[in-house]
Amino acid sequence: MTPEQTVYMDHAATTRVLPEVAEAMRPFFTERYGNPSSIYALAQQARQALDEARERCAGVLGARPGEIVFTSGGTESDNAGIMGPALALKEHGRHVVTTSIEHHAVLHAVELLESLGWEATYVSPGRDGIVRPEDVADAVRPETAVVSVMLANNEIGTLQPVAEIARLVKERALSERRFIAVHTDAVQAAGAVPVRVDDLGVDLLSLSAHKFGGPKGVGLLYIRRGTPFAPTQVGGAQERERRAGTENTAGIVGMSVALERAERERETNAAACAALRDRLLSGILERVDRVEVNGDTDARLPGNVNVSFHGVEAEPLLMGLDLAGVAASSGSACTAGSLEPSHVLLALGRSNELARSCVRLTLGAENTAEEVDYVVETMAGLVPKLRALSKAASR
Ligand code: PLP
Repeated sequence: MTPEQTVYMDHAATTRVLPEVAEAMRPFFTERYGNPSSIYALAQQARQALDEARERCAGVLGARPGEIVFTSGGTESDNAGIMGPALALKEHGRHVVTTSIEHHAVLHAVELLESLGWEATYVSPGRDGIVRPEDVADAVRPETAVVSVMLANNEIGTLQPVAEIARLVKERALSERRFIAVHTDAVQAAGAVPVRVDDLGVDLLSLSAHKFGGPKGVGLLYIRRGTPFAPTQVGGAQERERRAGTENTAGIVGMSVALERAERERETNAAACAALRDRLLSGILERVDRVEVNGDTDARLPGNVNVSFHGVEAEPLLMGLDLAGVAASSGSACTAGSLEPSHVLLALGRSNELARSCVRLTLGAENTAEEVDYVVETMAGLVPKLRALSKAASR
């Protein structure tokens, strides 16, 4: 199976760099390679490209250019988006509220703070994979400094009511005359649902370029003007001393082109992905028995299907799909390959068995109805075989 023949249904893990993005990046490796912090003309070309990229990204998010900090990706943005305000507000309170279904980039940042003496509350979602705004508001204490709730879940694709959460938290902060920083991990949401910082009412927001047709290893953190923030990566004075290190000019330019295009095509792509998602899900439900759909089917990313098969482990199923040329995953890429049950599915109240048997198929604009039908056909063949095998093995 060559890469060209792969039926790629893992767009939540990463996406192909779009040709126009690669083209926009190219000169910054070859001719326009100056360090944006230097003073001569060659460097100033790079500086100008960074400024333009910052304006483009800010435009899509409805932010001011000065509120955009370029980073090395979603993980760094999440780490800094939580630890930055937590460290800056440490004299005011050392409590963080988050949810039990966050990406590990958030969960492990919060755990790191716990190891340093902070306290944390992990709010659980309902069985539908959606966190209730009142539950988050109820978790806020007098010493809460940071609240972090993701906009779209990377495993089950459920959309979280971030705007309502931010509204409740801000209301509480205002009535108590203190500051509570609200962060959202919007890594999976960009290009799929609207991501406008004022509509969401958040102070900090994370994005990662490789999830929307940009390159890997670059992202951004939006920091609303006036938000207390202590840098966690220190050294030079880049990014107005909020994130030290020579900027990844080519990557940043690529991200800005990809983000603008993702926003331009968002509604068209979302409609196409949703139609394919519905075809895929109904195909699986028609052709395979004893399937559980994970996460709400309405408040969900347009391209996400996540199902658990009773009596089948995810790993052999994913291997079978791979042999048939289908690239899919069992949740977050970081836990794929290990037999750990998904922490997201456990948080939804799924059993260990079902949390180990989930398959995530995430569609993109390039997928076709023929590919969807092929995947349904392949699964309909594989699942009964694997069930029979595991039954025979347990005898
Ligand atoms: N947050 C979410 C929701 C993600 O899905 C991912 C990547 O899978 C990340 C953060 C981490 O992003 P990156 O791969 O750019 O570090």
